[in-house]
Amino acid sequence: MQWRFPGSSTNTTGTSPPNAMPERALCLDRRRFLQGTAALGLSLACAQAFAQSPKLVYDVVVVGAGGAGLAAAVSAAQAGASVCVLEKMSSIGGDTQRSAGFMAVVDPDRQQPWGIEDSFDLHVSQTLRTGHDLGNPQLVRQMVEKAPAVVRWLEAMGVMFEPCVYEAEGTGLRRCIRPIAARGDGYIRALSHEALRLGVEIYTDAAVMSLAPDLTGAVRGVTVRLAGSTFPKFVSARNGVILATGGFGASDALVRKWAPELAELPTDSSASSTGDGLLMAGQLGAQLECMEHIECVTGVKSEKNIAVRLAAPADMIYVNDSGERFAEENEAQDALAAAIRAQHDGRCFVIFDSAAVASLDPLTQKSLYRALVADAIFSAPSLEKLAEILKIPAQGLRRSIETYNSRLDSGEKSGKCRTMPCKKIRKSPFWGYEAALMIHNTAGGLKIDVKGRVLKTSGEPIAGLWAAGAVTGSVHGANCSSGNGLTDVFVMGKITGEQVALAGNSR
Ligand SMILES: Cc1cc2nc3c(=O)[nH]c(=O)nc-3n(C[C@H](O)[C@H](O)[C@H](O)COP(=O)(O)OP(=O)(O)OC[C@H]3O[C@@H](n4cnc5c(N)ncnc54)[C@H](O)[C@@H]3O)c2cc1C
Repeated sequence: MQWRFPGSSTNTTGTSPPNAMPERALCLDRRRFLQGTAALGLSLACAQAFAQSPKLVYDVVVVGAGGAGLAAAVSAAQAGASVCVLEKMSSIGGDTQRSAGFMAVVDPDRQQPWGIEDSFDLHVSQTLRTGHDLGNPQLVRQMVEKAPAVVRWLEAMGVMFEPCVYEAEGTGLRRCIRPIAARGDGYIRALSHEALRLGVEIYTDAAVMSLAPDLTGAVRGVTVRLAGSTFPKFVSARNGVILATGGFGASDALVRKWAPELAELPTDSSASSTGDGLLMAGQLGAQLECMEHIECVTGVKSEKNIAVRLAAPADMIYVNDSGERFAEENEAQDALAAAIRAQHDGRCFVIFDSAAVASLDPLTQKSLYRALVADAIFSAPSLEKLAEILKIPAQGLRRSIETYNSRLDSGEKSGKCRTMPCKKIRKSPFWGYEAALMIHNTAGGLKIDVKGRVLKTSGEPIAGLWAAGAVTGSVHGANCSSGNGLTDVFVMGKITGEQVALAGNSR
């Protein structure tokens, strides 16, 4: 039975000023902070505080405190709306927090000092091509053209970026920037601090269970289940609700439904990425798109739960269990995953040398050495010894590497070396590990328009409902080109926040 939000007609008065954090919440939270248990050391409020909060009416309710949700909350609050963010986990950040932090942006100030020529048109065409032309061209262009301003917006909040630009996988072009702070931490810290400064209320341990439409079908709020409480609470949203619940890489049921061939694969996504927003909006007739396009990447195959992702395709090769190289390592992720699955028993080994290790950034080096100590990655003085450890034929491995090196010697510019400065694999000690495919990114999700409004199968927007980030499926198409995931998250997060705040003016 469809739930009708009680009292929605009495809650449609004008825009109120941003709510202050309830005192009880702050006081509870300060204690948590002092105990060192509050996520990121921020003044977040937990479910217990929320249960006692009398304020359950906001202009904007944001579901999910990852990058998209926090960006939406900040921009809505900057536009004068009262905002509440509900996060189901006990800490904020989602996949954004665990990401590598790369954002793709065309920025001559950053790229030209390195001699890189780039343009909006090139970024748009590469994005569409990588996504097999399934992305919405209007949304892609909007993402690309708004990205530089969004980077400045993030910088104004305190995100500090490295001066380098990194190659966006598969594009042959250095277009990605990333914060100085490790992984996604820089974004989450800056956005959540700014949100709290603007009076946004952020509640953790608060899982949204369903959207609450009124009799006309317009979304007027959400039901939320608080950790430790039996009954759900209703939270009213005067202007609208923004779904920012992330992807569905950690949902066995959804992966099995949309890409059964990938069921059983592990994932490097956060356990929170279970597609909740898709299911909730689906109940209101939202259209889904590109759901079958689930990206996989290679990680270390090990029981030891060691997370290493060697995203340096110029400097390593993949071989199968005969020691034969079988793919261009910088192919689009869907093609690469298919090539790996086609090998005998789907087995694949990553091989590189110590020169490659030396050229990696310190964080990746650290994870490599940690894996080395844990016997999840191996290094050996010769290729023969490495082959013995990996239990693959030494002859096959040596032949693959000699062929690869001699092609580079002859200056052959084919395959990945056409677009990347490939280096020979020759400096001992040699490194290798058995790689396993992991579900990384779910490209599909809710169909949205350029304002982030969630569309029904009829093409009409669902009144009162917006979405941003990995819960949406309209931007990337079949593959998310590296760095575009976060660019989309922050661009669409900012846009939806502004749009929902503006929606109050038309009431
Ligand atoms: C290991 C890894 C590395 C990556 N590196 C990069 C990179 O370098 N560059 C790049 O562009 N992309 C990268 N990505 C992809 C990128 O991280 C994601 O696309 C992006 O973080 C998604 O942001 P989001 O805000 O949409 O979702 P998330 O950051 O996942 O946030 C969603 C939030 O919603 C919450 N939530 C879910 N359901 C509910 C509910 N029912 N009620 C309340 N809260 C809920 C979740 O707990 C979570 O906190 C990476 C992904 C992974 C897994």
